[in-house]
Amino acid sequence: MSHVKCQIMAVPRHKHTRSSVGQRRMHIFIKPASLTVCKKCNRAVRPHTVCRNCGYYKGQEFINVLGKLTKKEKKLREKEMQKAEKEQKKTAPATMEELSKK
Ligand SMILES: [Zn+2]
Repeated sequence: MSHVKCQIMAVPRHKHTRSSVGQRRMHIFIKPASLTVCKKCNRAVRPHTVCRNCGYYKGQEFINVLGKLTKKEKKLREKEMQKAEKEQKKTAPATMEELSKK
C-alpha cells in the first residue's frame, strides 16, 4: 500500500540530564547591547548608527530631528543641544590639561 505513509516521531536515544542540558545552554543568553557615546551630544548610542537624539553620524547630519517638532519642543531641544555643547567645551580643555600635567 503505497498511499499510506507511516510517520514515526523521532525519539531521543538517551535521557538528557538537567545538568547536561544546562551545560549546553549556558552560552545561550541575550548579551547587553554594546554602546558608544555620541560625539555631538554625549549620549549613549549603538555603534555604526545615526544618533536618534541629534540625528548626526560621523559629524554629518542625516536626520533633521527638529523638523517634526512643534515650536515649543524645538526651543527645548535647542536649549538641550546648546547645553550639551557647552559641557563638551568645558570638559575638553580640562582633559588636555590633565594630560599635559602627566
Ligand atoms: Zn547625538
